[in-house]
Amino acid sequence: MEFREATLQDRREYFAREWNPHFLPPFITEYFRFLEFAFDNDGTGPNDRYNAFSSLEELSSRIRKTAPYAVYSSVSHYEVPSQREGWLRAELVFDIDARDLPARRCECKPGKVCETCLEDARDVALTLIDTLKESFGVNKLFLIYSGRGYHVRCTDEEAMSIRNRGSVFTFVTGSRVPPDLFMVKGYPSAFRKMSSVTFSKMKSLAMRGGSTHLQNRDSIIEALINRDKVRLEEIIKKKALESLLEELSLVNAESVDGKCTVDIKRILRLPTSLHSKVSMICTVVRDWEKFDPVRDATPQFVKAR
Ligand SMILES: [Zn+2]
Repeated sequence: MEFREATLQDRREYFAREWNPHFLPPFITEYFRFLEFAFDNDGTGPNDRYNAFSSLEELSSRIRKTAPYAVYSSVSHYEVPSQREGWLRAELVFDIDARDLPARRCECKPGKVCETCLEDARDVALTLIDTLKESFGVNKLFLIYSGRGYHVRCTDEEAMSIRNRGSVFTFVTGSRVPPDLFMVKGYPSAFRKMSSVTFSKMKSLAMRGGSTHLQNRDSIIEALINRDKVRLEEIIKKKALESLLEELSLVNAESVDGKCTVDIKRILRLPTSLHSKVSMICTVVRDWEKFDPVRDATPQFVKAR
């Protein structure tokens, strides 16, 4: 499938015939009056900010009238969203862009995406979700297909009041090597999970002897997942393992956009809106395992082409 840019005519058709504000997810509708909305009206970027709406109807009429290139809403909730004043809380979010994935199985050129790297991005997102549930007890979790990757959004009260998001990012993405690699639970478990996912998709290793370790990859991953220290030491020498884990921790960190998690002033693409660059619908994923962007997030005007 080829991802083509939507024309103004396509956008008009989409927002007039297919889009419906009642499809907006609860994490938008429940907090509607606290959200700042932003528009990219013509493809030059989301420069039209500080918008707030008192009703869904008001937002709808704005969207239908202008058929914007892109629509966003704030991750933060404000008492006065039109001035970004009176900060109340912010969703805890993770942004995985398939374009920027350092470990992907496809041969996409930089800046391009295909169905394979979109799947790789989803695997990363599901790994983060697993850790958020297991280690942080987060329940209100949403997986959103953004058009070129995935967002993970958490709206538990506790998650939304977290101040130190940098350390949560490090933990959930496995961005540093744990001193106690084989511990059953906690951070080492998160690190092993994420490292197994990224390692399984890497095409090369920067470290010395990288190609040998790539050949032994399946055994290394298996030993890591099973916390089989003896087996791991048989396959890879101690020093080499240290270098490998170090490299994996960097790839883990680069797989997710850390700035997006840490910066609570961020805006995220509004679910149900159109990602016009690729003509795909930003979609809340209901079935996390079976979701297929081409089947589930393609607008009618693309199907009719
Ligand atoms: Zn690709």
